[in-house]
Amino acid sequence: MAQKKKSKPVKSKSSAKASSSVKAKTAKAKSHKYVYDFGKKTDGDATQRELLGGKGANLAEMAKIGLPVPPGFTISTEVCTYFYKNKKSYPKVLDDQMRSSVAIMEKQLGQKLGDLKKPLLLSVRSGARDSMPGMMDTILNLGLNDETVEALSAASGNPRFAWDCYRRFIQMYGDVVMGVQKLPSEDHDPFEAIIEDFKKEIFPKAKGEVDDSRISAVQMKELVSRFKNLVKKRTGSDFPTCPWEQLEGSIGAVFSSWMNDRASVYRRKYGIPAEWGTAVNVQAMVFGNTGKKSGSGVGFTRDPASGEKVLYGEFLTDAQGEDVVAGVRTPQPVAKLQKVLPKPFKELVLVQKKLEKHFKDMQDFEFTIENEKLYMLQTRNGKRTGLAAVRIATEMVKERLIDWKTAIKRVPADQLDQVLAPVFDQAAQKAAARLCKGLPAGPGAASGKICLNAERAVEAAKKGTVLLVRQETSPEDLRGMIAAEGILTARGGVSSHAALVARQMGKVCVCGAADLDVDYKTRTVKVAGKTFKEGDYMSINGTTGEVFAGELKTAPSEIIQVLIEKKLDPKKSRAYQNFSQLMKWCEQATRMTVRTNADSPTQVANAVAFGATGIGLCRTEHMFFEGNRIDAMREMILADDELIRRKALKKLLPYQRRDFHGIFKALEGKPATIRLLDPPLHEFLPHDQSAQRDLAKKLGVSLASIKKRVEDLHEFNPMLGHRGCRLGISYPEVTEMQAQAIFEAAILAQKSGIEVNPELMVPLVGFPRELELQVEVIHATAKKVFEAKGVKVKYLVGTMIEIPRAALVADEIAKTAQFFSFGTNDLTQTTMGMSRDDSGSFLPNYTELDILDANPFASVDQSGVGQLMEIAVKKGKSSRRGIKLGICGEHGGDPKSVEFCHKIGLNYVSCSPFRVPTARLAAAQAAVS
Ligand code: ADP
Ligand code: MG
Ligand code: MG
Repeated sequence: MAQKKKSKPVKSKSSAKASSSVKAKTAKAKSHKYVYDFGKKTDGDATQRELLGGKGANLAEMAKIGLPVPPGFTISTEVCTYFYKNKKSYPKVLDDQMRSSVAIMEKQLGQKLGDLKKPLLLSVRSGARDSMPGMMDTILNLGLNDETVEALSAASGNPRFAWDCYRRFIQMYGDVVMGVQKLPSEDHDPFEAIIEDFKKEIFPKAKGEVDDSRISAVQMKELVSRFKNLVKKRTGSDFPTCPWEQLEGSIGAVFSSWMNDRASVYRRKYGIPAEWGTAVNVQAMVFGNTGKKSGSGVGFTRDPASGEKVLYGEFLTDAQGEDVVAGVRTPQPVAKLQKVLPKPFKELVLVQKKLEKHFKDMQDFEFTIENEKLYMLQTRNGKRTGLAAVRIATEMVKERLIDWKTAIKRVPADQLDQVLAPVFDQAAQKAAARLCKGLPAGPGAASGKICLNAERAVEAAKKGTVLLVRQETSPEDLRGMIAAEGILTARGGVSSHAALVARQMGKVCVCGAADLDVDYKTRTVKVAGKTFKEGDYMSINGTTGEVFAGELKTAPSEIIQVLIEKKLDPKKSRAYQNFSQLMKWCEQATRMTVRTNADSPTQVANAVAFGATGIGLCRTEHMFFEGNRIDAMREMILADDELIRRKALKKLLPYQRRDFHGIFKALEGKPATIRLLDPPLHEFLPHDQSAQRDLAKKLGVSLASIKKRVEDLHEFNPMLGHRGCRLGISYPEVTEMQAQAIFEAAILAQKSGIEVNPELMVPLVGFPRELELQVEVIHATAKKVFEAKGVKVKYLVGTMIEIPRAALVADEIAKTAQFFSFGTNDLTQTTMGMSRDDSGSFLPNYTELDILDANPFASVDQSGVGQLMEIAVKKGKSSRRGIKLGICGEHGGDPKSVEFCHKIGLNYVSCSPFRVPTARLAAAQAAVS
């Protein structure tokens, strides 16, 4: 809005009046509404977020229900859209509509914009559909100039207050509208620099920070003049004196700020489309800075960290809202208001109750008290921790504020695992020295003596808690990872081996902490200029990714104490009660069930305690690393012919049988999908010289022969090499041994009265014939075992869908497969031609540049990989109607992917044990929405 145009609308209005007042009325009635009032007269309401922005819609709603909201109006987001479509200009009718809205405010308040007795002052604030805290600009105390400031001073009888407002206004307007900002050569905001220099002048002897309250009215006046000089010097223009010009300038600045750098970056990060636009809220000012009987604050209707139903927040007396967040003075807890300003406090308590009752969610609000009178300036649904979300949702159902289906929707599924994680003692963490930050891969808190290798970790763990610190981890480190309290790696992302295993075991994990210099030779870790030896203490926060020096006190979550450790009486834990109530509602709502990825009875027991309905993926290869069975495994791999191989397999058979038996027992009749051997064989062989020598000795063969076999097995691209069912095709005796172990274990369990439901799963199938060959071996083995034992067990045979070809020929495959389980890790790798382990170098850039929305290894790429899944579902059902469908990739624990699985009609998702509650919640959310 250029200065020149200012008087134009007035003219056109009067000319319209001159021609015919009737005509003017109809023209007005026809013109599109861009301005919505709130106050005594309120046009909008909370449902109009799209049009009025979140702030505007809720201001209207608060006004409607009779809360003390200073009057004002909202300029709709349509104007923002118009603004950008029309070279930063406005709809013609806007000026008219604004003027009549200002007139309404003036009438209600008995004040006038620019008046020399009772000047109306305004705040101009942005407000997008979704809140973008601090992202766009706010201007307060608008309407002041050299004359109105005197009027304000006289009307309030408080000159210092009046000049303080003027000073603030020039500072905000100068910055936001006129662009007087820090230059690259300056290390300080220029207005703040003036204040500081001035304070030094007037209090030459003061040590430390001088409180603004010590600046007198006369001194404020001097500051105002210095500020005006700065504006003139920087911009060449005088500070505008006309309130309308100030208002137009501010509105333009708010709309312009929608496209500024800060806002664009924020929008990209949170996926807010630029087309949404922002609204502008113009509101009468109320003053928290008139003295000790005034103040400003922010509050929550419940504690956002714990969820407890208490009024929570903070305030500052004699301050405008800006000061509370700016952190210059330390605010006081809101409960203290009761003593300082009891009358408005009482009102605040009533208002916050009304807010919750009306909005039916925990509210985060802003208020100002002017001479003991309370005003509400903003309210919105408050952000909260996972712990608080569960408590608030369940308690609100009890209070009959919301129904149980709404409660399910209220807890962000990806925050639920927070309630299971051990926590650091808060005070301890505050006092600790932070060394660096990595990726938060396994939530929770862990403290222990650092160990740089798995074997030593196992030993050290016998004497105390251990933190396994590695450059990265591999299957060989598994025992060390099990023994350790937490896992810390310098390399690898959130789907690295370390992260994957940590999640499966519910271990605390920070990975990819690049600042760590892990030196295996000297057994030291260098970070932040410090050197840590093995045995020194470190602590990691897997919820935030932070790494600390020394030992920090932790405590397991109450839910773990009840469900897993069984140490805590469930009746005594409120956290557990709330959690289990939520899970019960999920069960009522859900269509899809949740299974778990687990390879040991303990993991199964944990998952079942969390409500898993079976195993979706039992990886048999992890079983080969335990104890000395790795020797038999290696013997099998090194075998030159089938006979020797069979001999080695015979040694493995009892181990596997025992493992499966343990799993069947833990499952108590729930189904178990057991995947046959999958990884390439070289992963089981030692690669360093000394371990190879040890193995040679153990097996009584030459070192050279072992070296040769390792070389033979070397592959350029093992991910696409001799693995999955290709192993079983080459060595059917391996499949045979595994099937035999499964069936014998099943019979054993069945004999002791335990129901069994084994589901044998063949990995990496791409050709129907591959599956047929493996299924023949499985059926033949079953027949043999059943005949030998004289008993039968029921079982299913199915396959993973994890390469695109399998999805495309799923109808053919389904003729043999009784179930499909989507192995979305491999399916993503093979569909995208992207290795999970090597994509870390370019993926971050890909999401930054909007090539990809999210890491496809964490959340299913729905338009690409997802399409293959849909094809497989459709084709699979076309040849086997009731085919059982599930997912066992890491994506099974990702809420967005779970929702997608619900949509395409899967029967279950499977995820790591500690992720089961999250997946249950996500599945229930998909079902109720
Ligand atoms: P943000 O979205 O960044 O929180 P706001 O639009 O809420 O920005 O404004 C920032 C602060 O300005 C608020 O916290 C409030 O204290 C103050 N403020 C806004 N409008 C008024 C008003 N009408 N009277 C007094 N203070 C106001
Ligand atoms: Mg705000
Ligand atoms: Mg796979």
